[in-house]
Amino acid sequence: MDKMYELAKKILEETDGKICKSCLGRKLSKTIEGTNNIERADKVCKELDIDLEGVECVVCDNLFDKLDDDLYKKLDDKINQLGIEFDTFLVGSKIDKDIQKRDEELSEKFNLSVETIKKEVNRLIGLGIWERYDKEAEFESQDIVFNIDLVSEPKVRIQINPLYIEGKYNKLKRGIPQTKWPCTKCKGRGCEECNYTGKQYPESVEELISEHFLKLTKGKEAKFHGAGREDIDVLMLGSGRPFVLEIKEPKIRNLDLAKLEEEINKINEGKTSYHNLHLCERRRKAEIKQSSPDTYKVYQASVKCDESFDKDKLGELTKLNEIHQQTPLRVLRRRADKVRIKHVLDLSYEIVDDTHFTMIIKTEGGLYIKELISGDEGRSHPNVGEILGVNAVCEQLDVIEVSEK
Ligand SMILES: [Zn+2]
Ligand SMILES: [Zn+2]
Repeated sequence: MDKMYELAKKILEETDGKICKSCLGRKLSKTIEGTNNIERADKVCKELDIDLEGVECVVCDNLFDKLDDDLYKKLDDKINQLGIEFDTFLVGSKIDKDIQKRDEELSEKFNLSVETIKKEVNRLIGLGIWERYDKEAEFESQDIVFNIDLVSEPKVRIQINPLYIEGKYNKLKRGIPQTKWPCTKCKGRGCEECNYTGKQYPESVEELISEHFLKLTKGKEAKFHGAGREDIDVLMLGSGRPFVLEIKEPKIRNLDLAKLEEEINKINEGKTSYHNLHLCERRRKAEIKQSSPDTYKVYQASVKCDESFDKDKLGELTKLNEIHQQTPLRVLRRRADKVRIKHVLDLSYEIVDDTHFTMIIKTEGGLYIKELISGDEGRSHPNVGEILGVNAVCEQLDVIEVSEK
């Protein structure tokens, strides 16, 4: 007899012939040729003239019988009930610990490095889904995950992974915060002060885009991740600031982003606009927040002095370079108090009148411009007021460029 059936005979002996075709075939996957484990087991049955139909498997308690039409019916019901769209998926399963242990022990006994029962179950269900829906199994990042509990009566749970949309935004009107800002009085619960909205500001750059996405995707929640942020009273002009919008548990994923962008911009005309919307990977959410040494920002600032300034001293401003900046008083509540060293990369100015001038400042990310101008009670050094020998404040500030990442 063929030597390759020796292992099959030993396994049958060990299990007293009580092993199902899936389990036997799986253990022989490296010794007997075949397109699947059932086919391998069938070869053994034929060669050894045995019948394994209806046998009670001592390895898996006939777990594979649970992967039947009923299971796919449950799966289908779940998909329809949730009304979800997906192109890629992953299967995860929960299998009785004893079954997994017996499966491992059998492999160890014969020193086999073959697929585990869990992997086979996941693979088979994945194959079934692919056949029924023509969707791809994807291991790295996928639209949904089917969690199949096979410990007792099979149960299906579907995890819907978030949708990530990357783009850039402009803020064209002052007084709009980047993200939703809970009412400071009621902390978001809703009170008289906030008209029971729970919000300090009626709208935000975040909400003006996310409400449309939530409606269309039937998502549960949206999160806005910006590459830094500007103050509420600061405009975001130029090519815009990068952001990633995360939609949690979206039922609908296939969106016409170009059309949506156009519609959203029309609705928000004069307030905010969003550009180059495209789907992105989850990792972009963290990437756009990292500031590398070559990231920079360009601002336009309107400076007002309390008295006439010496125009000859204005030239000194263009020499500004290293700034020692202690955490501004106005953000001390939120940020650790420490001195950061940031650089001004370029500066130009234009005189408006005796007490006013405008500046275009290119800086490293993280330099506070309002404090660079006022000095923030000596916490920013050197500063504009100090150089000109007057009290200077930033009257108006706009971001005109945020570098790409
Ligand atoms: Zn079995
Ligand atoms: Zn309130």
